[in-house]
Amino acid sequence: MRAPDLLQRLIRFNTVNPPGNEGEALAYLEGLLEEAGWECELLSGVPGRPNLVARLRGAGPGPNLALISHIDTVPADPAEWQRDPWSGDLVDGYVWGRGALDMKDQVAAETAACLALAESGWRPAGGDLLLVVAADEETGAHHGAKWLCETVPDKVRCDWVVNEGAGELVSMGDHRFFTLSVGEKGTFRFTIRASGVAGHGSIPGVGDNALLKLAPVLPRLRQQPPRESTPDTDRFLERLLGRVPGDLDAALAEIEAADPLLAKLLADPMLGVTLAPTMAGASDRENVIPSRAELVVDCRTPPGMTGDEALERIESIVGDGDWVIEFNDPVVGNRSDYEGPLADAIEAWVELTEPGTEVLPLVMPGFSDSHWFRKAFGATVFGFCPQTAMSLAETKPLVHGADERVAVADVELMENLFTWLPPRLLGTAAVPGSSGS
Ligand SMILES: [Zn+2]
Repeated sequence: MRAPDLLQRLIRFNTVNPPGNEGEALAYLEGLLEEAGWECELLSGVPGRPNLVARLRGAGPGPNLALISHIDTVPADPAEWQRDPWSGDLVDGYVWGRGALDMKDQVAAETAACLALAESGWRPAGGDLLLVVAADEETGAHHGAKWLCETVPDKVRCDWVVNEGAGELVSMGDHRFFTLSVGEKGTFRFTIRASGVAGHGSIPGVGDNALLKLAPVLPRLRQQPPRESTPDTDRFLERLLGRVPGDLDAALAEIEAADPLLAKLLADPMLGVTLAPTMAGASDRENVIPSRAELVVDCRTPPGMTGDEALERIESIVGDGDWVIEFNDPVVGNRSDYEGPLADAIEAWVELTEPGTEVLPLVMPGFSDSHWFRKAFGATVFGFCPQTAMSLAETKPLVHGADERVAVADVELMENLFTWLPPRLLGTAAVPGSSGS
C-alpha cells in the first residue's frame, strides 16, 4: 500500500491522547507488516496502550537502524475545522485530518516503505531494520517510547534512529535547505516563590503582601539572557549565512531580514536560554492578602547545559529579591553529533533528490521521543521528515491546530526517503540461491 492511502486510513483511527486508544491502529499496521514478512510485537505497559515494534532481521550482525514515530495525536475540536478531523479526506492533493502532519504522515511513509522493502524481497545484510510506532508521545511517553527504552530496551536497541522534528524546506537568499533536528533543548521550568504574612484585604498595612514582592520580576522577563553559541549554532549559522558570525544579534537580524519566520521559529530559540512566564498564583481569596505568591517560568536551555549554568542565566535576568527559585522536573537538553553513516546517507539522499539543496542541522526548541533513544542507547538520532510542497509558514500553524493537512506530494517524498535509506545503511543481503560473484 502506498503511503498516502495508508495515511488516510490511519487518520480514520481516532488516537486522540488522552486517552490514546492506539491499539486498533497499531493492530492494523501489525497485520500489514506481518503479511509482508516482518516480525511484529505489540508491547504495552498498561492495557490498551500498546507500542508496535516490527523487525526485519539482517543476515549478519551490524548496527540497527530504527525508524520511529508515534501514532497518538492531540485533540481536535470539529467545530473549528472545515472538515471532519477524522475523515482522512483527500482533496486537491491534500490529505486532511488530525495527525496529518504530527505525525501520521511519517508513520504512513515509514510503514509503506517498510512494506515495500520487505515485499520486494530486500533483507538487510548486516544489522536489523526496526520500525517502532509508539503510543503516548503527546502526554509524556510514559506508556510509549520512555517505557520501551527503559523497560524493554532489548526490544528496541538501536544505533541509528530517524524520528520526527524537522525536514521543512527553508531558504536564505538563493540557497535552499532541508532542516534536520540533531538535538532538543532542555527544559528547566522554574517557580519563583515569595513569602509574606497574610492579612485582611481591607487593611493593607497589617500583612506582608507576597504578591507585591514578585512585582519587579515580570517586567525583567521581557528580556532574554544573552545569546550564546555552541558547535551546533556555529554550524547552523555557517551553513545559513556562509560564515560563523562574531555577533549573534547581528546574525539573527540578518536572518530576520531574509525570513522573519525562520528567525522567530528556528534561529532565535536556538541561540541561547529562553524564558517565558506562563503561570502565576497568589491568594485564593479576593479579600486575603497573600502570604505566598508564585510565578512559573518556562525556561529552555541549549543541549548539555546544567542546572547551575541555567540558574546563572536566569539570575542574570531576574536579579535579586526576596524570593526563592526552584526548578520543576528539570531535563538537560540532548543532542547527537551530526556525522557518521546516517548523516552521510541523508546528505546523499538530499543531493540525489533535490540537487543543490543542503541540509541545515539545528536544535529544536521543544522535544520529542528522540531523547529516550539517545539516553538509553547512545544512538545517533535525527529528526528528519522532508517536505517541499508545504512551507514552514504553511505547516507550523496546522500542527496541533485546526484544518491540519499534508500535501500528498510530501508524503510521497517521505516514502521515497524511507525506502531509500535502509538499503543504503544496512546493505542488501545476498538472495539465497543466487550465485555470488
Ligand atoms: Zn509529534
